[in-house]
Amino acid sequence: MELVVATTNKNKLREIKAILKDLGLNLRITSLNNYPKAPRIIENGKSFKENAIKKAIKIASFTQKLTLGEDSGLEVEALGSKPGIYSSRFAGKDKNDLKNNLKLLKLLKDLPLNKRNAEYVCAVALADKDGLIKVAEGRCRGLIGFEQKGRFGFGYDPLFIIPKYKKTFAQLGPHVKHKMSHRYRALKKIRNTILQFLVR
Ligand code: IMP
Repeated sequence: MELVVATTNKNKLREIKAILKDLGLNLRITSLNNYPKAPRIIENGKSFKENAIKKAIKIASFTQKLTLGEDSGLEVEALGSKPGIYSSRFAGKDKNDLKNNLKLLKLLKDLPLNKRNAEYVCAVALADKDGLIKVAEGRCRGLIGFEQKGRFGFGYDPLFIIPKYKKTFAQLGPHVKHKMSHRYRALKKIRNTILQFLVR
């Protein structure tokens, strides 16, 4: 029982594996690292869902296996929902997590906390050799802090404050994050369909 996750991003893969395990799915999860000859996917969709679907269909057609595509990012209200689908390349060509975070802090400057609303978004798409099976989206609300805090997670997690805990995802760690994150909420919606198609 194999599920291919159409990503090379080790952070996403680690989270998807942990969440699906928590959701009671005991399966062999592989990724594009197991399929080095898989075609490259150009993320040129206009939405998270479009990109997730593209990844799932293209890799399922190559591997002939049940495949999960994932696309995610951060929408900041004060920036008109930016960086959105461009979250990973927010700081431009030589981007990395630190540069992306510093750019976000610079743009928000001293905007008060109650105007720093943000949402993480995750779209997941399931496909097999015959095409798309299901798409789902999960969202998680937070606030962008004034400085990076915490050492867990990746990407914008050191800035993403969960109002209920007044702490960032990077401070709260995987046990809290995986019970409320955008990725958890999206995967929860698609869990039963994965199970259904694995046992067919
Ligand atoms: P992509 O889906 O590979 O295009 O990139 C997603 C980007 O969104 C990541 O590189 C991060 O910058 C951001 N992102 C998505 N999910 C998370 C998360 O759970 N924590 C922190 N950053 C995230």
